[in-house]
Amino acid sequence: MAVQRIGIIGSGQLGRMMALAGTHLNTEYVFFDEALSSPCTNLGKTIQPSSENAIQRFLESVDVITYESENTDAELVSQLTKIKPVYPSAQSLLKSQHRLTEKSYFQSLGIQTADFKKVETKEELTEAVASLGLPIILKTTREGYDGKGQALIRESSDIEPAWESLKNQELIAEAFVTFTRELSVIAVRNPKKDIKIYPLAENDHSQGILRVSRIPVENLSIEKQQQANEFITKLLNDLDHIGVLTLELFDTEQGLIANEMAPRVHNSGHWSIEGANTCQFENHVRAICNMPLGDTSLRQPNAGMVNIIGRHGNQASVMAIPSAFYHAYGKAERLNRKIGHINVVANSTSELNKTIQALQPFIDECGE
Ligand code: AMP
Repeated sequence: MAVQRIGIIGSGQLGRMMALAGTHLNTEYVFFDEALSSPCTNLGKTIQPSSENAIQRFLESVDVITYESENTDAELVSQLTKIKPVYPSAQSLLKSQHRLTEKSYFQSLGIQTADFKKVETKEELTEAVASLGLPIILKTTREGYDGKGQALIRESSDIEPAWESLKNQELIAEAFVTFTRELSVIAVRNPKKDIKIYPLAENDHSQGILRVSRIPVENLSIEKQQQANEFITKLLNDLDHIGVLTLELFDTEQGLIANEMAPRVHNSGHWSIEGANTCQFENHVRAICNMPLGDTSLRQPNAGMVNIIGRHGNQASVMAIPSAFYHAYGKAERLNRKIGHINVVANSTSELNKTIQALQPFIDECGE
């Protein structure tokens, strides 16, 4: 197979892990990003968008293009697509970039979501509270991540401060979902329309940031597993999606409710590096290069992931645990910043939980 040159818009940890996972399949990487010092430094050339003829040079340096973020400029993607294939397509990107578009799209495919209302004025917010009932979550329709751009309205007196903190942006008011836990399903599709789905992950968040993922999800009914697989398969096929797609879900007594999707590899899939036969990063590379997809099943019965947030912590203590794997992203320490993660593999749920417990300092302290 000839060398395939992959262009990545962005040069963060997701690009880094794609390049690390894909290089052995005879692929090379070019990053399109302003930052010359990044997690992707030394993994390939970086072209700065502000440099002369940047787009033309990027296009000439690559065979296929992908991106790291759902906030990637869709105009740029459409422009690049005229010359070189860009996966996932602008359609997957546009549907994921805007919470109102995304939720309406889910509903059009029969994928259940929280009730929601568009909010552009304070009067519309008061109306949304009246029709959805309290509590509600007010969110910006664009650019929110890790709980940013959100305000919880529990009672009427929260309306004013929520409005003040988010006004002058297009907003969505969502009914608060009473969930038992948060799950995600990650899948990959290639141009031959082959699909592989990873086992569902259970995700613990704190302050809007993912802290821990556990795989498989304990005591999840067959019906709910099938529901998640149906949701992601519908989305992949309807979008004609190429690459990895992630769907975040709330597990409720009434069934699974979709929160949002990401047209990319996802933090809740990092466990797959050591935990699955083929990790999400390699499968994304395989998909966009039109290669056969790899097996997504677990290597051992259980897997998990603990995010390293804010501070690097005691790396050596993690490396001393045989079933734990330390991954640093080459990023500087900063409060609430994701700078690495630790993967865990285990032969049972109790063994998994024991190792995760040993990593508790990372969960408690790093982000504080
Ligand atoms: P998001 O940016 O939409 O992923 O939201 C960040 C976090 O806020 C989610 O992981 C949930 O913990 C919580 N959240 C978001 N939307 C809702 C909702 N409609 N009901 C309850 N919790 C929510």
